[in-house]
Amino acid sequence: MSSRRLRGGAPESTSGGDDDRSQGEAPSGAAGSPQPNEPALPGPPEPRSARKLFGSLTRISVIGGGVIGLAAAWRLAAEPGTQVTVYDAATVAREASWAAAGMLAPHHESESCDDRWALGVASLARWPGFARQLGHDLDFRCAGGLVPALDAEDAAAAQHRMATLGVGSWIDGGELRRRESAVTTAALGALWLPAAQVDARRLGAALADACARNGVAIRSRCQVSVRERRLIVDGAEIANDLTVLAAGAWTPELAELSGIALSGEPVKGQMLRLAVADGLLSTFIHHPDAYLVARSGQGVVVGATMAWTGFDKAEDAAAIDRLASGARRLVPALASAPIAETWTGLRPRLHRGRPLIARIRPDLIIATGHFRNGILLTPITAEAVAALASGRAPPPEVLPFAFASGSTQVLSRPASP
Ligand SMILES: Cc1cc2nc3c(=O)[nH]c(=O)nc-3n(C[C@H](O)[C@H](O)[C@H](O)COP(=O)(O)OP(=O)(O)OC[C@H]3O[C@@H](n4cnc5c(N)ncnc54)[C@H](O)[C@@H]3O)c2cc1C
Repeated sequence: MSSRRLRGGAPESTSGGDDDRSQGEAPSGAAGSPQPNEPALPGPPEPRSARKLFGSLTRISVIGGGVIGLAAAWRLAAEPGTQVTVYDAATVAREASWAAAGMLAPHHESESCDDRWALGVASLARWPGFARQLGHDLDFRCAGGLVPALDAEDAAAAQHRMATLGVGSWIDGGELRRRESAVTTAALGALWLPAAQVDARRLGAALADACARNGVAIRSRCQVSVRERRLIVDGAEIANDLTVLAAGAWTPELAELSGIALSGEPVKGQMLRLAVADGLLSTFIHHPDAYLVARSGQGVVVGATMAWTGFDKAEDAAAIDRLASGARRLVPALASAPIAETWTGLRPRLHRGRPLIARIRPDLIIATGHFRNGILLTPITAEAVAALASGRAPPPEVLPFAFASGSTQVLSRPASP
């Protein structure tokens, strides 16, 4: 048994069944033959719901104001006849979305051309238009990202990645020093992969602003609960037609109140920021020891650890030392750069690290589990949520994540009394 605290709510007891590292495969009910405790997902919208969506005003409540909830709300507000409210237990865009490095890097983060890679690639393609439409200075850069090879093993891994994914180019040591003079002269060369980057904190602020400008009501610091499909905010029932659950690492606990058991857990990441003048790096650097991402006027952010410690956000001094020395090994000029800031964040991870972007019931959409790639996946997730809400097909790359499958465990349980 693990006891966890629902944000803004009472302590919640859940069975240990959501520790997806210790579980085998989820039951993989084929479409049309659901397992006994598996709901038929997502099912056609009920007539009442469809009438609401295409007729009179549809009241949509988005639970969670990270980048996923805010971007979904922004897109939903553009659908005809919607009235959208975001409810957050704390302050919007201050959790994982605030902690993120901001790499938009599907090729750096994938080992094969699987459906998660395809989802990331499709979202990366949407990023330039998404950033333009937001209309804020997000420090969005499209120069790709480098994977330096410090030894023969790194070089072999780079060649393997390039062959497996069928993208990227190898640049030798001389060319690397011409392009990125700050990278260690010990590097044999580097793999360049298409990618982009964004300042995740600017993104959160821009999305909150875009929501406000487009008529989305944002309610911070409120206590959200669900009783038998009814949405309760600060003790009062909310008139609501559709709920979008996008509460990051806290989503499984809220989903459980809604009668949906999601297998998932937070994964803590430790980051730090080194104070250094702009211009040190023109692309981000991605290496097993550390990754480094320059931010305009903010120096270089360095990440990140992965720790399965529940909802504990405590910092780890030893991890900070390891990351800082990894960064200084890759970019020796950082040896004299002081540590300006350290922080941790909780990545929302579901079973096998797969996101869930699904219309679970006519009255419920869940968009969560973006794990290490939530900033990358923001545009495509928001587009998919708006499509699912309006009865349109989501982008095809979302389909493996939009319905119940053996790889994303969604089990139905009776709603809490
Ligand atoms: C250290 C670190 C580095 C990362 N780097 C990258 C990167 O380089 N690129 C990338 O693509 N991704 C990265 N990620 C992953 C990315 O940050 C996440 O996948 C993404 O931010 C998830 O967004 P979210 O909106 O689902 O969750 P969050 O941003 O965590 O938002 C969830 C929101 O829900 C609210 N909430 C919680 N409980 C309740 C409740 N009961 N009622 C109402 N609201 C509630 C919270 O207050 C919060 O505002 C990183 C993550 C970490 C931690």
